[in-house]
Amino acid sequence: MRALIVGAGIAGLVAARQLGLTGWQVTVLERSGGPRPEGYMMDFFGPGVLAAEHIGLAGRMREAAYDVDAACYVDPVG
Ligand SMILES: Cc1cc2nc3c(=O)[nH]c(=O)nc-3n(C[C@H](O)[C@H](O)[C@H](O)COP(=O)(O)OP(=O)(O)OC[C@H]3O[C@@H](n4cnc5c(N)ncnc54)[C@H](O)[C@@H]3O)c2cc1C
Repeated sequence: MRALIVGAGIAGLVAARQLGLTGWQVTVLERSGGPRPEGYMMDFFGPGVLAAEHIGLAGRMREAAYDVDAACYVDPVG
């Protein structure tokens, strides 16, 4: 079976991975030139954690995670 996935966001990449693991031949189309070179930190919680556990990636994600001790909100005047 072949699949064409439009968009290399989290939804497209996970769909591609999961289909590939079950033998599908997958092509992903992405309009952006590449990942942001500076990286991007994001919160990860709730259903996302459950999904990562379900597909066996939670351990690797924990290894790559940054522990955040505190966060603060700053308004335009500091
Ligand atoms: C500023 C910001 C901060 C966020 N922070 C968090 C957070 O901390 N934690 C969290 O869980 N969620 C966060 N979110 C939400 C999260 O980013 C989205 O829920 C998630 O990215 C959705 O994934 P997606 O794969 O559905 O879509 P997207 O991430 O939007 O991916 C879609 C991809 O498809 C590509 N695309 C679109 N149209 C085409 C086309 N015609 N041809 C080819 N490629 C195409 C786009 O370039 C894009 O790469 C944040 C969102 C924003 C905007």
